[in-house]
Amino acid sequence: MLDINTLLSDRVTNMEESATIAMTRKARELKSQGIDIISLSIGEPDFKTPKHIQEAAKDAIDEQKYFGYSPVPGYMDLREAIAEKLQRENGIPSKAENIVVSTGAKQSIANVIISISNPGDEILIFAPYWVSYKDITEFAGATPVFIKGTIDNDFKITADQLDAAITPKTKAILFSSPSNPTGSVFSRKEIEDLVIVLTKYPNVLIIADEIYEYINFSGGHVSIGSFDQVKDRTITVNGYSKGFAMTGWRIGYISAPVALAKACEKVQGQITSGANSIAQRAALVAIKSDMEPTRLMTEEYIQRRGVILDLLSDIPGVKTYMPSGAFYIFPDISYYFGKSKDQVVIKDANDLSIYILNEAHVSVVSGDAFGAPEAIRISYAASEENIREALKRIKEVLSQLN
Ligand code: PMP
Ligand code: GLU
Repeated sequence: MLDINTLLSDRVTNMEESATIAMTRKARELKSQGIDIISLSIGEPDFKTPKHIQEAAKDAIDEQKYFGYSPVPGYMDLREAIAEKLQRENGIPSKAENIVVSTGAKQSIANVIISISNPGDEILIFAPYWVSYKDITEFAGATPVFIKGTIDNDFKITADQLDAAITPKTKAILFSSPSNPTGSVFSRKEIEDLVIVLTKYPNVLIIADEIYEYINFSGGHVSIGSFDQVKDRTITVNGYSKGFAMTGWRIGYISAPVALAKACEKVQGQITSGANSIAQRAALVAIKSDMEPTRLMTEEYIQRRGVILDLLSDIPGVKTYMPSGAFYIFPDISYYFGKSKDQVVIKDANDLSIYILNEAHVSVVSGDAFGAPEAIRISYAASEENIREALKRIKEVLSQLN
C-alpha cells in the first residue's frame, strides 16, 4: 500500500508541529473523554472580544459591501489607521504604504521571513523564543541561530551577547518583547543598548514582534522601530489576537520598509490574498476606539501574575523571576529531572509536562520547544479559580516525585 508519508516534502517532514498547539490538542482530546483538564498551555486570552468590536463586525455584514476579496495588503483605511497608531503610540515613522495586514501575526512573520531568506542566511533568534520562529525560518530555507538569555537576567539576552553573535551571514534578528514564552520586557535602556550594537551592523534587519504590546506591566512599551539609527531597517510585527482578545479573527500586521512591504504583499498575494474582510472592518473600529477594555484585561493579568507567582513560590525546586508582560511564566523546573514516581522517570521538561498532564490533568508546554529545556511555560490567561486549582494539583504531583 502506498505510504503517502513517503511523498511528503522534506521541508514539511522536517517541520515540527507547533508545541503550543500540540499540547492544547492533547488537552482537548482528554477533555472530550470527560477528564477534568485545566488548560494552561495555549497563549490565548480567556476574555471575549469586546462588545463594540463584535458589533462592528455585525455592522460590516449589514453594510452589504464587504463580501468580496479585500485588497491584498489590507483595506486602505485600516492601513492608514494602523500607520497613524504606530506613529502616535510607538513613535514609528509609518505610512499606509509600509503596512501589510495579514491573517494573524503568524502569517505576518512568515511573509517577512520568506521574503528575506536565502539559503545560508542566518536569522538570529533571541531564546527562549516563540515556537514558530524556528520552524518558519527553517521552512523559508534560512538557518535559525539562537542567543540565549538566562533566568538571572529574566531570560533576556544582553547587548554583548548580541554583538558576539552577529556574523556576516546574519540577515536579521528576531525577538518578541513582551516575550512569549517568558513574559519579559526589554526596558528602554536595554533596547538602547541593542540599538548601539546594531548601529555597527547596518545590513542587519530587525524583526520586532510586539504582539503583547498592550499586556505590559512595566509602565511603558518601547518599540525598537522608533530609534533613528535603525528605523529604516526595522520590521514591527503586531496584531489583534492578544491585546483585543481576537485570536480567532486572525488579523495581524507589519510595518516594514516599502520594498519589504511590497515583497510581503507579493508573497501573500500568491498564498492567501487579503485577510478576512469582516475581521478587518472590526479591526478598524478596534484600533480607533477607547482602549478601556484592553486596560481592564491587562489589570486582570497583573492580578493573576501575582497569584501564580505566589503559588509557584510555594513549590519546592521551582525557580522563578518577575515577568513584566504577556501572560506567561517560564519557571526553571530542572530540579525535578532525574526524579521518578513508580515506573515514570522524568528525564526532561517534555517528560515533566506529560507527567503533569497525566497526573495533575493540567496542560503546560515544555520549554524544549522554546529553546529552553530547563523550563516549562505556564499561561495564566485563565480564570483565577482555574489557576489556583491547577497550581494546587501541580504542587501535589510534583511532591510525589522522588
Ligand atoms: N507572535 C507571538 C510572540 C505570539 O505569541 C503569537 C501567538 N499566537 C503570534 C505571534 C501570532 O499571533 P496571531 O497569529 O494570532 O496574530
Ligand atoms: N501564540 C500562542 C501560544 O504561544 C498561540 C498558539 C500558537 O499560535 O502557537 O500559545
